[in-house]
Amino acid sequence: MADRFFPNEMPDFVEEKEPLTVASEDSLMKLLSMPYSSLSERLKRAGLDLKETVVVETWGLSGRRVRDFTLYSGTLGTAFLLFKACQVSPNRDDLALCSEIVKACDSASSHSRDVTFLCGRAGVCALGAVAANQLGDHELQSYYLAQFKEIKLPIELPDELLYGRAGFLWACLFLNKHIGEGTIPSNYMGAVVSEIFKSGRGLGARSKCPLMFEWYGEKYWGAAHGLTGIMHVLMHVKLSPSEAEEVKQTLKYMIKFRFPSGNYPSSEQDRKRDCLVHWCHGAPGVALTLVKAAEVFGDREFLEAAVAAAEVVWNRGLLKRVGICHGVSGNTYVFLSLYRLTGNKEFLYRAKAFASFLLDRAHKLISEGEMHEGDNRYSLFEGIGGMAYLFLDMTSPTNARFPSYEL
Ligand SMILES: [Zn+2]
Repeated sequence: MADRFFPNEMPDFVEEKEPLTVASEDSLMKLLSMPYSSLSERLKRAGLDLKETVVVETWGLSGRRVRDFTLYSGTLGTAFLLFKACQVSPNRDDLALCSEIVKACDSASSHSRDVTFLCGRAGVCALGAVAANQLGDHELQSYYLAQFKEIKLPIELPDELLYGRAGFLWACLFLNKHIGEGTIPSNYMGAVVSEIFKSGRGLGARSKCPLMFEWYGEKYWGAAHGLTGIMHVLMHVKLSPSEAEEVKQTLKYMIKFRFPSGNYPSSEQDRKRDCLVHWCHGAPGVALTLVKAAEVFGDREFLEAAVAAAEVVWNRGLLKRVGICHGVSGNTYVFLSLYRLTGNKEFLYRAKAFASFLLDRAHKLISEGEMHEGDNRYSLFEGIGGMAYLFLDMTSPTNARFPSYEL
């Protein structure tokens, strides 16, 4: 399966040096040894330039029309990138443009039945409310919060992150983080949490894992559609001691039955093919969730498993795709997350290495057809919108968060 990723030939660690003392002719090696503050400036400039390109391609050239409103692959992803750019380089015009784009997504999604942050109406209303809050437009904030509260969760809703209950809960958490605790009351979220446990226990009773879920008949393990993503969101909400124990034991079950390589299966049914090292399926998504588990539960086992998963990402995670969901940009967040947890500079170096690889080579590799720019080439989760987002996040590594996943 070597054709999925580039062999990682970068050194395990490179000391930072002043540029004049670096003899190497190799432009990537120069970036790896560059002091972080200088590299950070380069990444910031590249990220802001890419953001402009994404805005032109997904908004300007489309005549400001919205075809796909979602944050995952559509226009709301551009608004989320603008929101990130404002945090790195405060700019009221970008914030106003973010709000204008959300408004168009609001119209385009008014009849959507999808309810999550990444792929549904909750993402539109939550980002709209938060952008309005930062603009000081209280009337607009009230409008989006009222719209958010209008979202009805169908009885037959799945539990996973992209289309299910966990993805709706994440939107509630985003609102509470940015507007204030209680914006979405805990009893409202608690009812959704109870539904998740109810369905998880039902399938869990028929397996050796305390909680288990299905999406289109498949018992996925990954962050996008399965256990990893659902456990991740549950660790952000108030749980009873017994619920917390179920989450903990579910993660321990996954660690116990991971591949000998340290990677994780895509699903309960597919325990043999050790090939995907993506956020959506495999070690990267699990590593981010294990970092959260180490923070919440403090067990050393979770930190050790997260480090083992990060090793898989270092060796097999230089994917031939650029994006967040199943590309190099998303995989870089594993190292940023471990750096935030441990303060270990080796993880920061590894994040720097993956980001430098993209900065140095992504455009060339894409133009030569060696790297795929994504099915939606400017989108946040599949395309270069994700690379722009990562570059901007690299400028403040302890504040970096995997978009729409880490809070
Ligand atoms: Zn993916």
